[in-house]
Amino acid sequence: MSDCLFCGIAEGSVEADRVVEDDRLVAFRDINPQAPTHILVIPKRHIASARELGDDEGPLLGHMFAVIAQLAADEGLERGYRVVTNVGPDAGQSVDHLHVHLLGGRPMSWPPG
Ligand code: AMP
Repeated sequence: MSDCLFCGIAEGSVEADRVVEDDRLVAFRDINPQAPTHILVIPKRHIASARELGDDEGPLLGHMFAVIAQLAADEGLERGYRVVTNVGPDAGQSVDHLHVHLLGGRPMSWPPG
């Protein structure tokens, strides 16, 4: 989508602090980090949110979570990490392109705000 910020990052027309890229996804550091490690993992293909996911996206999601596990290891998050995807306004989704937050490097409380 031409007006989608994260499509721009996926295509390379918008700069980002990339940590991983392959044919299906890009991972980059969040511009407003909420933890010592705060990385966003996005599919290159435009998917508006997790609400649009179905069985066909199973391989893509498995790949995203495998990359997240490797990133967590690379970042030294042996004590754990949090994986979040916000869906819709009540959850605080501000960019309508599926993104998974990888947060770690500090203790986190539950429930989230
Ligand atoms: P959400 O609120 O769940 O939709 O998350 C969107 C995230 O994207 C927020 O944590 C923002 O800080 C982050 N963000 C917005 N624009 C950029 C950007 N250009 N580069 C990196 N992260 C961004």
